[in-house]
Amino acid sequence: MSDGGPAVRRLSDWDREHLLSLADEFGSPLYVTDLRRVRENCLRLREAFPEAHVSYAVKAHTGQAVLETVRDAGLDAECASAGEVERALDAGFPGDRLRYTAVNPPAADLDHVVDRWEANPEMTVTVGAEDTIDRLADRGFDGRLCLRANPGVGAGHHEKVTTGGHAKFGIPIDRVPSIAERVRDDFDLVGVHAHAGSGISGDDLSAHRELVRRMGDLARAIDGLEFVDVGGGFGVPYHDDEPPLDLAAVADATREALGDTDAQLAIEPGRYVVADAGVLLSAVNTVKEVPETTVVGIDAGMTTLLRPAMYDAYHAISNLSRPDAEAVSTIVAGPVCETSDVFAEDRAVARPERGDVLAIGNAGAYGYEMASTYNSRPRPPEVVLDDDGARVARRRETLDDITTLERTASEQLPN
Ligand SMILES: *Cc1c(COP(=O)(O)O)cnc(C)c1O
Repeated sequence: MSDGGPAVRRLSDWDREHLLSLADEFGSPLYVTDLRRVRENCLRLREAFPEAHVSYAVKAHTGQAVLETVRDAGLDAECASAGEVERALDAGFPGDRLRYTAVNPPAADLDHVVDRWEANPEMTVTVGAEDTIDRLADRGFDGRLCLRANPGVGAGHHEKVTTGGHAKFGIPIDRVPSIAERVRDDFDLVGVHAHAGSGISGDDLSAHRELVRRMGDLARAIDGLEFVDVGGGFGVPYHDDEPPLDLAAVADATREALGDTDAQLAIEPGRYVVADAGVLLSAVNTVKEVPETTVVGIDAGMTTLLRPAMYDAYHAISNLSRPDAEAVSTIVAGPVCETSDVFAEDRAVARPERGDVLAIGNAGAYGYEMASTYNSRPRPPEVVLDDDGARVARRRETLDDITTLERTASEQLPN
């Protein structure tokens, strides 16, 4: 392997002293994103799938520095909203490297995307309902169209991220060939697509194989397709003892299940590109000894990193300030008055004291993106690292930022 780096970057692989100095300089909570690791992840994907078209699912992390890094590393952009299309264009993705996937798209998104398509006619639009095709046609769209199939199989680490079999997503796969015939005259039909959800893992590729097999059959049933996109969902090891995904094995399984097609294989991972490129740093506010455990209150919460509250997600946690302290069993909790505002229960952490800085691993994907201002809590800043050092990519939000929408409410235009 050339410069794709190791298969995984664990929390313990980060430079502890450097992270502590960043927390000291920029305060906490703080997202830190290493663009060098984003680059490595892109390279490994391209090396494992040299024949495939590889896009990055922008929604995992939409920061401009990340998008530019991904663009330079040769991946295209898969966007889930008009806002993401705008961000990808701003980051310099040309129209022919940009796809918009419409999931129950609001009218404003379609208006905006069709407007951008007029200036970037090489853009591809993926639709998951016949109704969306009609709505695009109503707006004058006759460009590159991809049909999203519901393959009837899903995969995911949690039911909330399993999309492949859910009726919300895609056109039932057996109806796709007839719809393809119907739309052929009015659009430039270029591809078929499916996304099974998140969580392709090394131990069980059977759901992935089944999805890809069905998509291969579908691609062979439709003439003249440019690509067959089998989605994202490439898993990352959130637990320290989980092995990293064997990308070569996933690639082999994908090729074998797809079989011979004239259409080019396409994949669109999001999480895999950014998850282990990011950590969240958070300071300890409160240490409370209770009979059963030690409750460690930190200044990040579910408003900073939602995944544990929303998906029961596991994230590694390390006390950067006490590398040599003995570990004690803890509950690591945020400052929000919600039972779900807990990062970990029954977790061994080097005995924390007030003021210590904890690092939460694998925070690069769906971390900042899902942050909110619940509790009127401003969102944290993000620092990006690259060969030339560290810089602030997003400043800390202020209470003034949050309340500005009220203070400027009279500027609301009538609909
Ligand atoms: C979210 C999403 C992805 C990326 O999923 P990951 O699990 O982050 O790889 C890819 N394609 C579509 C259509 C998605 O909605």
